[in-house]
Amino acid sequence: MTATAPHQKARALKPGSPRPAKALCSECGLCDTYYIHYVKEACAFLNQQIADLEAKTHGRSRNVESEDDWYFGVHQEMMAARKQEPIPGAQWTGIVSSLACEMLTQNLVEGVVCVQNTPEDRFQPQVVIARTPEEVLAAKVNKPTLSPNLSVLEAVEQAGLKRLLVIGVGCQIQALRAVEKQLGLEKLYVLGTPCVDNVTRAGLQKFLETTSRSPETVVHYEFMQDFRVHFKHEDGSTELVPFFGLKTNQLKDVFAPSCMSCFDYVNSLADLVVGYMGAPFGWQWIVVRNQTGQEMLNLVRDQLDVQPVHSQGDRRQAVQQSIPAYDQGVTLPMWAAKLMGVVIEKIGPKGLEYARFSIDSHFTRNYLYLRRQYPEKLEAQVPEYAKRIVAQYKLPPT
Ligand SMILES: Cc1cc2nc3c(=O)[nH]c(=O)nc-3n(C[C@H](O)[C@H](O)[C@H](O)COP(=O)(O)OP(=O)(O)OC[C@H]3O[C@@H](n4cnc5c(N)ncnc54)[C@H](O)[C@@H]3O)c2cc1C
Repeated sequence: MTATAPHQKARALKPGSPRPAKALCSECGLCDTYYIHYVKEACAFLNQQIADLEAKTHGRSRNVESEDDWYFGVHQEMMAARKQEPIPGAQWTGIVSSLACEMLTQNLVEGVVCVQNTPEDRFQPQVVIARTPEEVLAAKVNKPTLSPNLSVLEAVEQAGLKRLLVIGVGCQIQALRAVEKQLGLEKLYVLGTPCVDNVTRAGLQKFLETTSRSPETVVHYEFMQDFRVHFKHEDGSTELVPFFGLKTNQLKDVFAPSCMSCFDYVNSLADLVVGYMGAPFGWQWIVVRNQTGQEMLNLVRDQLDVQPVHSQGDRRQAVQQSIPAYDQGVTLPMWAAKLMGVVIEKIGPKGLEYARFSIDSHFTRNYLYLRRQYPEKLEAQVPEYAKRIVAQYKLPPT
């Protein structure tokens, strides 16, 4: 149970004004509230403190002897799951939305912090405190842009909410856990998704225009386990673009500097994480981090098909080869990219090994980025588990 304590306040920043984390700000929303008072300790990019917060939240931090712990964080169970009746229009099968609806209808929580979109733009995030299942369902599907989820924390307190579910990505959840004790809640539930390569709304536009045949009709996309980006269009058609055909040279600066400096891909501090990358194609990947997460999952268990996680293949060579290729912005001609996609889908890493492939590729890339752009931050910003992961590979000289 979270303690109630009077908290300190400071004046929230005005939209568009410089942020304490400067270029590394991920726009998590904390600085839009009076909880900015705590930003120096709470911001994921000013004070990386994952191990300490893991110990406070889950009762322990990662076990250095366990490779699964370094990669996937503290957990008591992992599985692959999908809804027996998927929610149409959800990002995957809608486990996240179903869980949030169930928590409201069973009265476990009074509100859910989630991300709808603005009326004008399907990808522009609009953070809300949903009080009904309809409002939760209106937040289904990713808005693949930086989103100020914590900007509603003042409104949570003003509304007198005591039991709250927050849905969010790693940087948002790290700051949330850091101020959790100040929120005056009786119970906070955290439902996280993995997150990587996020972008500003302008960056998203550049990504869509560089990569999709019809950027204006994209309603949904995902970097899938078959090594292709799947774009879904308004007319229901799917467009597949192999990872190896992405125009890396044009996209190198599209990702937010915060995401290039992040090592919390798997959302270490959520109670329950719902992603896809450790599961077979078409299934979602569930990581139960603690007892609260277990209780949350139990609410929807009877709506799910479930299977154990598995792991197949060896990612290491593919990761090692991708490091200089990304660094030099190599882009293959489309025929070669498609061919490579077909081959790697047949013989490449699957299940948890695919998740490790994705973590290794992003951590090595981000480590190089920090080492070059923010060398003074490298030591403190990279958690121990990430240093171990990166140390498995040979990196180019600075
Ligand atoms: C930016 C982003 C990147 C992701 N990258 C990966 C990845 O690399 N690997 C992986 O395994 N999984 C990733 N995920 C998670 C995955 O894409 C699905 O969101 C997850 O599996 C839940 O699917 P669902 O059908 O249950 O969700 P739905 O039922 O469709 O619900 C989606 C939920 O996401 C929330 N949301 C939407 N946009 C944002 C946002 N910008 N910030 C915070 N919350 C948001 C909404 O509030 C909504 O509740 C990412 C998610 C996001 C938001």
